[in-house]
Amino acid sequence: MSAIDLYARATSGHAERVAHAVALLQSAASEHAGRIVLASSLGAEDMVLTDLIARHRLPIAIGTLETGKLHAQTLALAQRVEQHYGLTIELHRPQQESVVHFVRQHGDDAMYRSIELRKACCALRKLEPLQRMLAGRTAWVTGLRREQSDARGAVPFLEADEHGRTKLSPLADWSWNDVWHYIATHQVPYNPLHDEFMPSIGCEPCTRAIAVGEDFRSGRWWWERDDAKECGLHVGGAQASAVSALPRRATTKNAQGASA
Ligand code: SF4
Repeated sequence: MSAIDLYARATSGHAERVAHAVALLQSAASEHAGRIVLASSLGAEDMVLTDLIARHRLPIAIGTLETGKLHAQTLALAQRVEQHYGLTIELHRPQQESVVHFVRQHGDDAMYRSIELRKACCALRKLEPLQRMLAGRTAWVTGLRREQSDARGAVPFLEADEHGRTKLSPLADWSWNDVWHYIATHQVPYNPLHDEFMPSIGCEPCTRAIAVGEDFRSGRWWWERDDAKECGLHVGGAQASAVSALPRRATTKNAQGASA
């Protein structure tokens, strides 16, 4: 059974949530023209955002962190997306010297030995390349949703990150059903690993399938406590601040992909 078979149900208010996400993206693309990027993990949420950006021809770049540890299916998806939409995905890789030094010192499986080593691996494979992705940009888009975990339960649509950039999470109020209903309705390409019970896909050594009823992110760093399960890309909402120029809630009912 595919993820679409399992999850792609229409839910009340879906069309309004699509319209609101589009309005947020349009407004941010206009305000930050040429200086805004979608930081895509190529997960289901980011595929929805990619489709919205391409469908509405929004001037928002798309970048992903090619950590050197991604699944072959994820790398293949990046190519498929480029062909499907006729766009280019920026691939931001870690500094080779840092990776070689880290692996020599701690081994290729260091992430399993301590939270500190796992976070050090994330720092050099994700955080440093993310800073290069965001350099010169004043806004970034993420696929964060409140439903994903307790730690993300209060994600705002808009906040200022720790460097003062606008951080936009247009799908903050979307459900997992919303995501898959959109993917099914618009034939959005997606990672086949989602069909193997991996709702949240990261690096291969740090992702596994989950069981029915488990938390969305329980397959990520499954050997750690729940409160440690972030890689540092998304610092908590203490800095959150409303950006009043952007729409708080669109109400139009004629959004692209509207469904019952
Ligand atoms: S998710 Fe795992 S492999 Fe990927 S950067 Fe973090 S610790 Fe390293």
